[in-house]
Amino acid sequence: MKSQGLTTKLLHSDRLGKPEHGSLHKPIHTSIAYGYEKAADLAAVFQSRQKGYAYARQSNPTVSALEAKVTVLEQGVGTVCFGTGMAALAAVFLAFLRKGDHVVSSRFLFGNTVNQINTLVQTGVEVSYVDATDAREVEAALRPETRLVLVETIANPATQIADLAGIGALCNARGLLYVVDNTLTSGCLFLPKDVGATFSVNSLSKCFGGHGDALGGSVTDLGLFDWSKYPNLYDLYKGPDKSQWALLQLRKKGLRDFGGTLAPEAAHVLSVGSETLPLRIERSCDNAQKLAEALAKHPKVAKVHYPGLPDHPQYARTKALFTRPGALLSFELKNAGDTFPVLDRLKVGILSSNLGDARTLLIPVAQTIFWELGEAKRAEMGIAESLVRVSVGIEDAEDLLADFQQALDG
Ligand SMILES: *Cc1c(COP(=O)(O)O)cnc(C)c1O
Repeated sequence: MKSQGLTTKLLHSDRLGKPEHGSLHKPIHTSIAYGYEKAADLAAVFQSRQKGYAYARQSNPTVSALEAKVTVLEQGVGTVCFGTGMAALAAVFLAFLRKGDHVVSSRFLFGNTVNQINTLVQTGVEVSYVDATDAREVEAALRPETRLVLVETIANPATQIADLAGIGALCNARGLLYVVDNTLTSGCLFLPKDVGATFSVNSLSKCFGGHGDALGGSVTDLGLFDWSKYPNLYDLYKGPDKSQWALLQLRKKGLRDFGGTLAPEAAHVLSVGSETLPLRIERSCDNAQKLAEALAKHPKVAKVHYPGLPDHPQYARTKALFTRPGALLSFELKNAGDTFPVLDRLKVGILSSNLGDARTLLIPVAQTIFWELGEAKRAEMGIAESLVRVSVGIEDAEDLLADFQQALDG
């Protein structure tokens, strides 16, 4: 049979395991503990010699169904889900890095990821920030102790696109873990596997769930890294199937030891939301393109950052790598003092810090999510003081365009 499309796969994946009572959705399993009739089975589950559930901090059937969906979307060998995207990133760092290891990170990062890395540095891991739109910058920062390279696909809020393929080639040549935060693109727009990534990390709270009503995160092992060459793995987790070594260590460290567990109720909400992901992405990307073009033409707008506009510095790369340029854009007004009054006049767009929601959300970033970093760090990240981020939703395009028009015209 011809391989199915993504929407078909996402819609039907819950039924493909053993259907429970014919249920079309994976049921929400709320039990935190699981009982066994034979002590030998309980022991085998604990020792990872047998599949099964023991205590829900580490695994839960409803969460497993979501993990299977993310694995399908990212075309990986397996996924571990977490309570938030931040917990997913923290689990990668804490499970695979040790004191003295070195990380090269894009300097265009989600603000809280920068805050988290600042904390990581306190544990004795060293971090260099580089302009990841050029793989040569990453290469120049490498040291003998470098273990991991971290990038985002479309950086928020200024939409820089990392040199995803160039960095992938570099990481593969040097045996480095290549971690791609795919939140802004998701497996619908871009497969980190295609550029040789080790892990694809997603905040499921954003476009994956899509309705701003549940937090979650995931790490997918894409099956490309040769784990027999990685030093920081515990022998205990090296079972007969090498492809599962890193996933098991991630589950043991990230969930069992650090406890960043996703609740089954949230897993259910995220699973249901993801059924319409390909449909929502198409609509929100169409809307973003139209809005970016309209803003770029408006006399009061100084600059629009959107990878689907030909003047974007990585326009060609976007076309080559992504199926669409995403649903995130940002803009600056010619008169910075107009920014707040324009935002206050919006009626359809909502002033809110989230992104990837079905609704269009806007935020002036320097005064809010990037406030704690300070002006110098903001400048380094390419964030102008008057920059407004727009996460474009799935509203009817005419309504969205009319709303921005009236807000700008005042
Ligand atoms: C939101 C976000 C995160 C963090 O995800 P949470 O689920 O909010 O913890 C990480 N990376 C990127 C790119 C994000 O947009």
